[in-house]
Amino acid sequence: MYPQMRFGGRIECASVEKHRPRGDSPASGPLAAGCEASGRHRSRAALLFSGGVDAFASLIAHLDERPELVTLHGADIGLSDTEGWERVRSHTEQTARRYGLGSRFVHTNFRTFIDERALNALVRDSGEKYWYGFQSGIGIIGHYTPIAWAAGTELLYIASSVNAADNGSEPCASDLTIDGQVRFCGCRVIHDGYEFTRQDKVRRIVEYSRASGTAVNLRVCWISTGGGNCCRCEKCYRTMFELFAEGADPRDYGLRYTKRDISRSEIRLRTDRAFYDPYYWPGLRDCLFSNPAAVVPEGAAWLERCDLTRRPKTPRFVLYGLFRHIGRKLRRIAQRLGIR
Ligand SMILES: [Zn+2]
Repeated sequence: MYPQMRFGGRIECASVEKHRPRGDSPASGPLAAGCEASGRHRSRAALLFSGGVDAFASLIAHLDERPELVTLHGADIGLSDTEGWERVRSHTEQTARRYGLGSRFVHTNFRTFIDERALNALVRDSGEKYWYGFQSGIGIIGHYTPIAWAAGTELLYIASSVNAADNGSEPCASDLTIDGQVRFCGCRVIHDGYEFTRQDKVRRIVEYSRASGTAVNLRVCWISTGGGNCCRCEKCYRTMFELFAEGADPRDYGLRYTKRDISRSEIRLRTDRAFYDPYYWPGLRDCLFSNPAAVVPEGAAWLERCDLTRRPKTPRFVLYGLFRHIGRKLRRIAQRLGIR
């Protein structure tokens, strides 16, 4: 994955201990500090559930196994974002209730007890940040280990973020070659949905929703505090356009955008560094403008003629980006000072 880096050192185990799964803890009451559960449902399978496209696609694919949903507080939602966590928790609980599944919640400081800035510097040669490129998959999976022992879970699904078509071109800590090799206490980890692209997953979600008449409420935003979808960041726009490409209205999937959000999509995306990632946008544009079933919303025609290979440097985009950067800094300071 990172041939340009040297991975030295050794891991030596002082002693090896065997733990058989206990499997006698129903999903009720706390198992340990930082972990809580709701619902009386017992299951041999579990799904790490963030509420996004990947997680929903895995949920739909494995509904017949009735996996319990496991959501981490401290991964994308900060531990201090109480309001955001309540919404995320409620979203998982609602989803679990809708499908008659159990749910578990883990509060974790695994992103803050490390010095992420120093680690980013340490792995700079990889071209990735520590969280995405090194920590995310196995870091998230590790939280389930004591639960698997207590609950006797045999299968833990973690939804794939990258897919087979990338052929290893997109390095990510959560990868089939890593997640899929993890075992503990009689529990196997399945890196799920690797064979599907993100657009495939959106299509399957839309097809499922239409066929079953079930509303699907996605939570995709990693920017907004409050646990909702801002409809103004790269991830929200990407998901909205993916839904448009399948002929669906994002409002029916939890992305309550306004006409203004769409009309401002060009300037917002052109000032977001993630937009220049050739990983998603060229394929998404092709799908949006070639699928006969797609609905191209008013104000999105710019995407068809946009050169996605070059970062635009026109003054208005640069200035707009600068103002957004200052705005974000001021909002963060206001949040820290408790000013709303
Ligand atoms: Zn967003």
